[in-house]
Amino acid sequence: MLKIIKNVEVYTPEYLGVKDVLVVDGKIGKINENIEITGVEVEVIDGKGKKLVPGFIDSHIHITGGGGEGGFSTRTPEITLSDIIQGGITTIVGTLGTDGITRSPENLYAKAKALEEEGISTYIYTGNYRIPPVTFTGSIMKDLILIDKVIGVGEIAISDHRSSQPTIEELKRIVADARVGGLLSGKTGVVNFHVGNGEDGIEPLFEIVQNTEIPINHLYPTHMNRNKALLEQGLEFAKLGGFVDFTTSSTTTDPDELKAYNALIRYYEAGLIDKVTFTSDGQGSLPIFDEKGNFVKLGIGKVTTLYHEVKHAVLKGLPLEGALKPVTVNPAKVLGLKNKGKIKECADADLVILDESLEIDTVISKGKILMRDKIIVTKGTFEN
Ligand code: ZN
Repeated sequence: MLKIIKNVEVYTPEYLGVKDVLVVDGKIGKINENIEITGVEVEVIDGKGKKLVPGFIDSHIHITGGGGEGGFSTRTPEITLSDIIQGGITTIVGTLGTDGITRSPENLYAKAKALEEEGISTYIYTGNYRIPPVTFTGSIMKDLILIDKVIGVGEIAISDHRSSQPTIEELKRIVADARVGGLLSGKTGVVNFHVGNGEDGIEPLFEIVQNTEIPINHLYPTHMNRNKALLEQGLEFAKLGGFVDFTTSSTTTDPDELKAYNALIRYYEAGLIDKVTFTSDGQGSLPIFDEKGNFVKLGIGKVTTLYHEVKHAVLKGLPLEGALKPVTVNPAKVLGLKNKGKIKECADADLVILDESLEIDTVISKGKILMRDKIIVTKGTFEN
């Protein structure tokens, strides 16, 4: 069935004015003033006073759960579709983390397939924290070329006590395999690097950029708002043309850590907003401390923090057009998703309607309504 969202302020994420948007067969069919359709059944959604923005992309979610670093009882559970929808997220990349022993790429694949069946668009990274990375076929290149859902490698840990202490040569080989595997499969072949608190930060990535012919867009570091030194290193990386990712589900108790919206404002002022993405690190484990800094319990990273940080940036004075980029056009560029992250004719109809107070009102994925007037219409296969 056709849908028309009428009289809505359209942000592509650039501001387009008040328009009607026609959705046909999961795609955006037309964007214009006063679209009138007669002779066929059309579902009309009144967008008066509201804003239409692209569905959000979250390229780092532990969809099968994460954690386990405090023992088996600290393994976090799988994500549910409702959590994702509530966050306005319509495209995700699932990833393994520290644990590549009790969590497998096969399980990650199955969960990604399940979420796709339930209505959103899903991809996965092959590999995990360590080198050699866990893969499906024993080869990063084979995984990229033969498994449709695999669009990159990650998260490979560097500068972290939980990493495999990889050498530069090992890291180079992984990026090289991702590049060639990407070229042969028509994917971007990106490598998502988990960057820890170690002193070197992303120094290994600079070395790869300087000492190989591999383009910088294959290197995609995350958790770059973890501390101020990383934030500064990231500015240099972005100036060289690289993308830098900020994690939105962070703990606020670390005095050195910057909230993603603050980090974004810093990059905006440096003229580098087109080089920033946000990811939630959703479903990963988050240690919770009391006011005195004592460990209390493990929390779970929430995917809903992704849009919270966008909204926060707007409340702090960033224009909505800019604040939306890290969750729409920018990740679409990093991941090479041509039909995602933008409201334009022929793109996938992944859409979010925001109400007057910028709250998520309606979520549409591939033309299908998943949430309407703040009520989730589909909860996926299981109630939760
Ligand atoms: Zn990580």
